[in-house]
Amino acid sequence: MKFINLSWLFFLFLVSTYAETRPNILFLFSDDHALRTIGAYPGSINNTPNLDRIAREGALFTNSFNVNSICCPSRAAILTGKHSLANGVIGNSSKWNGQQWVYSREIGKSGYQTGLIGKWHLKGNPTDEFQSWEILSGKGGQGSYFNPTFLSPNGESKVTGHSTKIITDKALRWLKNRDQKKPFLLCAQYKVPHIHRLPPIDRMGGYDDVDFPVPDTFFDDFSTRSSFVSETWMALKGMKGHVLNIAPTKEEIDKNPKIRPPFLDEMNSKQRKAWHSAYDPRNLRYRKLSKENKLEGKAKSLFIYQRFIKDYIRCVDGLDDQIGRILDYLDQSDLSKNTLVIYSSDQGFFTGEHGWAEKRWMYEESFKSPLIMRWPGTIAPGSKIVKLVQNIDLAPTFLKASGLPVPDSIHGLALQPLFSNEYNFRWRKDILYQYFDGGTPEQRGPYNMPRHEGIRDERYKLISFYELNQWEFYDLKNDPYELNNLINDQQSKAEIMRMKKRLKILKVQYNK
Ligand code: CA
Repeated sequence: MKFINLSWLFFLFLVSTYAETRPNILFLFSDDHALRTIGAYPGSINNTPNLDRIAREGALFTNSFNVNSICCPSRAAILTGKHSLANGVIGNSSKWNGQQWVYSREIGKSGYQTGLIGKWHLKGNPTDEFQSWEILSGKGGQGSYFNPTFLSPNGESKVTGHSTKIITDKALRWLKNRDQKKPFLLCAQYKVPHIHRLPPIDRMGGYDDVDFPVPDTFFDDFSTRSSFVSETWMALKGMKGHVLNIAPTKEEIDKNPKIRPPFLDEMNSKQRKAWHSAYDPRNLRYRKLSKENKLEGKAKSLFIYQRFIKDYIRCVDGLDDQIGRILDYLDQSDLSKNTLVIYSSDQGFFTGEHGWAEKRWMYEESFKSPLIMRWPGTIAPGSKIVKLVQNIDLAPTFLKASGLPVPDSIHGLALQPLFSNEYNFRWRKDILYQYFDGGTPEQRGPYNMPRHEGIRDERYKLISFYELNQWEFYDLKNDPYELNNLINDQQSKAEIMRMKKRLKILKVQYNK
């Protein structure tokens, strides 16, 4: 009996020692964040000191891609480590099957305390994927920027303020109240900078006297591409006024409340007052320029771009401020050294490239996601990782970090071998992309764009618009902006054949 007690105590000692050495995992996640609006990325147009700090003290992934660049499928791929056909979330209207294997449940069962706070955005609320959850509710899972409603197993509650700060407040509260004997997995998932972009009050001002750089491909004429690329509905120049925060002034609305645009309804009177003091002068300027016929053709497109990108960056600034609060808390509570901090977004975004403001395509800007990781002692500060990685790699990476085996059914690869400077291991050479939210040749569906799939390796990209029997092929080394479709180029014939074969193989590998 004495022997059993002693061995039991020894087991408990082992478990507690093990638990202490397993890293905490803090997953910071946003929605639609373009790489060019993060200071640490090459070609960045703005400053994000706190996100950059994660990169400086850890690793910046410059070739991190999605399996399917749209909100719900991206989230499902991250949770399951699998491509869309295998996890069932192929488009934004697909139902989420929460009973399937997800990394967070496994990590929770192994002794971690797990929680998710913020934007869940899957069709079907969480059940036991996380031990605790509190998600943005309403607007089809998008939630509101101002005074959002949250849903948890205890019901709904509305909170006053801006969603970016509220999600951070809740995350910090979760961290402070956690069981300190256990390692934790916390996912803080933000709404910014998703459309309709409403920055927090303290970031509504600024940038009125500066112009942000315009992407080189802003006036792309799509001359080498198939006609449906130019016909897609994601042109900045077609954006509706209200999503650019173009609206009547406070004075006008006070005189006739009926003209108040619905997006101002989610704010209280104090927040609306702040909004008007920031935006009324901009909107009066817009009207003046319109009246003087100074916003025609290209001038109008450029004007819209500046209105769009400034609100986008104001939202990113608000996010960066809050990421800073979280990093400070980790420092102050002595958690930084044993916490793997990850920053990513559900996909990238066209911020004016090809004249667009959207995602969905397999072109680099939306196919890529930002990915930054800090893990003291495991990732060397200032690392730049150029290998091809995908959002399905996060689940196995987190499993491995928490000491768990990675099941064979997972499509992704644990990223840990990339943290070593010695690249003497076999890493994947190509990645599969599949986008299903398009329609048919007769009825193209959302954004008037076709379904497509493709393969990318370290140099080339092949895209198949299979329902239209059309292909595109790009040499990314010589044509990084993907302006020159080489599908009919005789010299590229061998590469194209090779890529077509690989696409078939990858589909067999990843669609089960
Ligand atoms: Ca998104």
